[in-house]
Formats: sequence, structure tokens, C-alpha cells
Amino acid sequence: MKKQTTKLIALVISVLMLATLLPAMTFAAEEPVCEIGSVQYADFGDALAAVQDGETIKILKDIEYDKTTVWSVGSYVLRITDKSITFDLNGYVLSLVNLQDATPSFGLMINNGDVCIIGDGEFNITGYTAVRVEYNGKTEVTNVTSFGDVGCGIEVQDMYSTVTVNGDITAVYRGVNSYGAVVVNGDINSQVTGVYAWGDAADVIVNGDITVNGLSSTSEQTMGVRSYRNAKVTVNGSITVNDNGDGETYGVYAHTNSAGGSVIVNGDINVNSVNSIGVAARYENSLVTVNGGIIVPDDGTYIRIGTNDKTEEDGVPSIIKPGYFEYTDEISYVWVLNQHPCALDHDWGEWIVTTPATYEADGVETRVCAVCGEEETRAIPKLVQEKPLLDQLNDAIANGDYYGDGPITVVINGVEYVFESNNGNYNGNGTLFCTIDGVVYKLDRNAKGIKGVKN
Ligand SMILES: [Zn+2]
Repeated sequence: MKKQTTKLIALVISVLMLATLLPAMTFAAEEPVCEIGSVQYADFGDALAAVQDGETIKILKDIEYDKTTVWSVGSYVLRITDKSITFDLNGYVLSLVNLQDATPSFGLMINNGDVCIIGDGEFNITGYTAVRVEYNGKTEVTNVTSFGDVGCGIEVQDMYSTVTVNGDITAVYRGVNSYGAVVVNGDINSQVTGVYAWGDAADVIVNGDITVNGLSSTSEQTMGVRSYRNAKVTVNGSITVNDNGDGETYGVYAHTNSAGGSVIVNGDINVNSVNSIGVAARYENSLVTVNGGIIVPDDGTYIRIGTNDKTEEDGVPSIIKPGYFEYTDEISYVWVLNQHPCALDHDWGEWIVTTPATYEADGVETRVCAVCGEEETRAIPKLVQEKPLLDQLNDAIANGDYYGDGPITVVINGVEYVFESNNGNYNGNGTLFCTIDGVVYKLDRNAKGIKGVKN
């Protein structure tokens, strides 16, 4: 009896074990997650271990891979060194996730290599620092999440490396930290710096918006974009920076010690904290162009050039960049687009007489801009009295320009006229004639200066 019971229990246990194992075996045997050529893999890690330079891993279902490898100083999920591989996303989502909350830890690391993606789908990376690329490393990813206190969404460590982010970057510290070339086609959300770019080769383009919601918990100032040492940064969307602390908060901070760092923002810059600076251009030859507006609180700083704060009204029409207001200390420059539709020139209509001129007073004529309706006026000189020629001659003689015995020469308005007299006697009894252009004029004998005067 006792033996029978033991057998029954053993049978029950066997059946239970079989039932537990069955689904796992089915899963492993019939649902590969990816393939390299004709070889299928149920474990994505096995495929990563097997993939050779130039090969493609085709994804066969959504994969979230979080197995970390620890090396001497940190950890990573995928590290590519000296080789080029391709993920054919094949319509699926491939996620690399490293939840190690310690630096340096990465989701994806590339040292002198290339991780390409083809096909529809997403290649998403999460880590303390999500993606680190160095020594001529290149990659293209979809969405990036960095949760580290001093981590970065994208970290490009040298001038030969490039990263393209087709989606968004979410980061605690810096969205992008780059010495090389980065293109972000989506938005960047961070809590300290949206983009930090450093060095001659740094060229960061953000096609979406940058939003930085600072926590004031770090020692670093909160900034939308920080450009240093000739780095180029272009933001085609807007920059919004909020901070709840009392530290300095910048929309754009361009600074360099040697060559011009240049930043172009095509959207608006909106900074909101108790110590807001819209745009700062510091030190030598920092250049910033803003094609949107700069919005700061009433007590905020619109633009800081060197150590001088400028209000919006301090801008003067730029000769270097026509159509822009310029703010400069003649070392660094900030140009803000003049948003007026006629910033470069009005589209003037014809001059129209609004008040006719008279012999006594100037008149007024007016023209109107066809675009903005601006009016411009100018004076019309008052009319000049045209006297009959005979009167002018008499005036000239009366004013004594010249006359004498024999032919008389009179100068009228700079032109010399020679008069012939009928008897050469100008004592007032004779009559004086003159001929101009074939017309004989009889001069007024009583004109002043003719009577009794004779050479
Ligand atoms: Zn106009």
C-alpha cells in the first residue's frame, strides 16, 4: 500500500514536469528570433556571438535583449570592434537594454566598426549611456534612452565617428555629447543639456525640437545647446529650456577660446527660469544665428555677448547679414532674424502727390508699401516763377550786370546777351532794343540803371 502511493506520487510529478517543460521546448524549437543567412537562432545572443564582418542578422520577431557583458571598467549589451554588421529589422523592433546603473555602461558600443540597419522597424537602445561610438565608429538607431545621472543618449568620442538617430532621444544628463557628426531626426528631451558639441569636427543637426526640463540637482548649468571650440550645431526645430532652480539657464551657449563656434536655430528659443539667458555668445568669435524668436521672462537676459547683456532693442540692422538684427561686441556675434515681412526692403508703389506745391510753399508726395502698408512722404519743392523774357532782361539791366556805350552785354542766368542800340545813346532819351533768337525786344527805357548812365 505504501509502495503504491509512492509510485502514484512519482507519476504525478513526472506528468507535471513534462507539462512545465513542453511549452519552453516548443518555443525554442519552432520560433527562431533571427537568422544569419540560412542559419536560424532561437537565442539572439548566439547570433551576436556568431556574426562575422560584413554579415546581416535578419530579425524574425520583436526582440528585447538585455544580457550585459562586464569588462574591466564597465558593461555593455552589444560591443562591435573592427567589424561591420547589419541588422535587417524586417518590420520588427530590436531593443538593446542595459539597466546597469553605473558608469561606464552602454547599450551599444562601437570601436572602429559599423552597425547598419535596413528594412522597416526600430532599433532602440537603452543604457546609462545608450550609444557610445569611437575610433571611426558609425551607426544608425531609432530611439535612444539614457537614464544615467551623468550619461548621454548619444556619445560620439572622436571626429571620425558618426551617428544618425531616426527617432527621439530621452536623457537625464546630455541628449547628445559629440566630437563628431550626429543627425537627430526626432526630438531631444533631457534634464541638463540637449546637445553638447565640442571641437572642429563636431557637426550636430537636430531636425526636431530640443526640450530641457532642468532639475537644478546637478552642478552643471541647464542648456538647450552648448557649442564649444568651433563646433557646429543646427537646430531646425525649437529649443525650450525650463529650470526650477536659481542657477543660470541658457537656450544656447556658444563659447570658444580659439575659433568660432557656430549655432543656427531655425525655431524659437524659449527659456523659463528665475535666471534665464536666451542666447549667450562668449569669448572669441562665437557666432549664433536665430531665425525664430527669443523668449525670456521680463527679468531674463535676451542675449549675453561676452559679459554684456543686451536687450532686444539693442539690436541694429546687420550689414554682415542683411535682414537680421545684430548684437555684437565685435568679437562674438548673435544675429536674430528681423521678422518684419519687409525686413530687407519695402515694396514701394509710385509717388503720389498728396499736397501740390505752390509758388509760396513746398508740396508733399506719398508712397505706400504694397506688403505692409508703411507710408513714406517727401517734400515737393515750391514752384519757381517763370517771368516773361523781357521782364528778365529789364531786371538784369536794372540790377546792373553790365552795360556801356555801344553794344551792351547783359548776363541773365549765366547766359550772355548782346544788345544793339538804335543810336548808341543811353542817357535815357533813346530807346534800347535787343535781339534774342531773331526776336527783337524793346527794353523799358525807364528801367533802373539805364537812365543817365554812360561809360
Ligand atoms: Zn513694407
